[in-house]
Amino acid sequence: MTPASWTLRCSACDTAAGRDRASLCTACGQPLFAQYAPVPKGTPLLDRWDAWRYAPFMPLEVGELPVSLGEGMTPMTEAPVLAAATGVRRLWIKDESQNPTVSFKARGMSAAVTRAKAQGYPGLVVPTAGNAGAALAAYGAAAGMPVRVYAPRTTPRPILDTIEAFGATLVRIEGHIGDAGKLAIAYAAESGYFNVSTLREPYRVEGMKTMGFEMAEQLGWRLPDALVYPTGGGEGTIGIWKAINELMVGGWLPDGAKQPRYVVAQAAGCAPIARAFDANEERATPWVDPVTYASGLRVPSPLGDRLLLRVLRETHGVAGTATEEAIREWTLRLAVATGIDAAPEGGCALSVLRDAVTAGTISADAEVVVFNTGSGASYRA
Ligand SMILES: *Cc1c(COP(=O)(O)O)cnc(C)c1O
Ligand SMILES: [Zn+2]
Repeated sequence: MTPASWTLRCSACDTAAGRDRASLCTACGQPLFAQYAPVPKGTPLLDRWDAWRYAPFMPLEVGELPVSLGEGMTPMTEAPVLAAATGVRRLWIKDESQNPTVSFKARGMSAAVTRAKAQGYPGLVVPTAGNAGAALAAYGAAAGMPVRVYAPRTTPRPILDTIEAFGATLVRIEGHIGDAGKLAIAYAAESGYFNVSTLREPYRVEGMKTMGFEMAEQLGWRLPDALVYPTGGGEGTIGIWKAINELMVGGWLPDGAKQPRYVVAQAAGCAPIARAFDANEERATPWVDPVTYASGLRVPSPLGDRLLLRVLRETHGVAGTATEEAIREWTLRLAVATGIDAAPEGGCALSVLRDAVTAGTISADAEVVVFNTGSGASYRA
């Protein structure tokens, strides 16, 4: 297996941190990133058909086996009907419902649980709007590690059932994921468990990168003009951006390739990043009383706010919102047009794309990849 060697550095102030550090930058409180020497084009990828195919770009020691359930390698299907409906030239759906526990959260948990196990943590804890808890419950089981999940009582029932089906301890709370986050921090401090909360440790986002590698490879090692990601905590969006940067540094993409424009899609009832981007802010302020049935987007105060706003600025991106009614309409349209079991988060992405094309901020000539991040089945009680 090709060795990947990495160091940890702060994503904001570049302060170095020990490689086993499982929390934020001690100097400024921002997320840490894993950094690697450039992986040159032609470096052999692994002969395995899951996200660990991209192991040369991943935090994996020589000779180490990842904790894996076959995550990744999800289909990316062109959808001409949806291209016409949203008004762009070409459109693909990257269908993340085809991951273990039916969301892209599997990718991040595979990477984070691999490191937590290697570092000898006694257990895993996570606050969740739903899918992260289900994914951690599964990867904890695969690693033989105990899992504790804090989830809002309002989380869709099928997701809560999945968490319990893997034997995890589920704590249902009043309030939203921000409230769950405080409980997870307190529990991690008391138990010594690894806190796998979004961007609070550096490894989940490394698993998310594999969506970016796959997208580029599935397009024949080139990039779309824009990509649309339904954004809550921001790990998916930031992971893809990090992957594309690493591909560009290694020379994997055509000369002159540049980052696609990132379209951050949020629910109108919880849109801290869209609001901050419109106001040209560097940080987002917490969204009071977040409401949306697209539970993956119910994140009122994302730790990745600064990074997300940077991605939007650097890629000449777009941030937009969709109402609950628009989310319902476009979720149905996605499913009916493609046969993909669309999640409301995927419907939100399509709705925001449609509005951006109508407003002229995304060109009718654009080639666009839209992420369906989860499964409609999770929302059918
Ligand atoms: C977690 C989640 C999101 C939001 O992803 P982030 O990486 O937190 O921005 C979107 N859709 C679904 C289905 C999710 O589970
Ligand atoms: Zn820092």
